Amino acid sequence: MGKALQQLMAGNDRALSAGQALPQPGERRPTAAVLACTDERVVPQALFDHPPGKIYSVRMAGNVYTPEVAGSLEIAVERLGCPLVLVLGHTDCTAVHMAMTRERLDGKAYEVARLVRHAIDGLPANTPLVQAVEANVRYVTGQLRERSRPLRERESAGLLEIAGAVYEIETGRVRVL
Ligand SMILES: [Zn+2]
Repeated sequence: MGKALQQLMAGNDRALSAGQALPQPGERRPTAAVLACTDERVVPQALFDHPPGKIYSVRMAGNVYTPEVAGSLEIAVERLGCPLVLVLGHTDCTAVHMAMTRERLDGKAYEVARLVRHAIDGLPANTPLVQAVEANVRYVTGQLRERSRPLRERESAGLLEIAGAVYEIETGRVRVL
């Protein structure tokens, strides 16, 4: 076991001792399904002050749309009755930055940047990163509505809210778009 994995397992021991490793008992009823970036500083449970069992979390670098992301959100909405889908971008996002700078990318990171580029296509090259982050969030919420019939229909029926927000890493504040 490498050092990093040992650190994780020590943390699991601490969480067990503190009673924090278990979700709250009872019916599964998440407050929200959050599509967030994979950035290690973005922790939906912490920044919304929700314990385990309350936030259904889907994470992809750049909080991009893919069919699998939509399918994961549909599980939360259809199976668990989740009333809110929140697309959560964040400031200082590496994935959006990669897409903006159009740097040459090897491997599969290219695929992430390619998806973000769809969202920011048409923005001037000198657009501030935060505006690109917002454009990406708006694009992804639009894609979810357009491409997922279950999400779209539930939203139309008033059973679901689909919203976008940006987490400001510098202040900790979440701003709903
Ligand atoms: Zn990010």
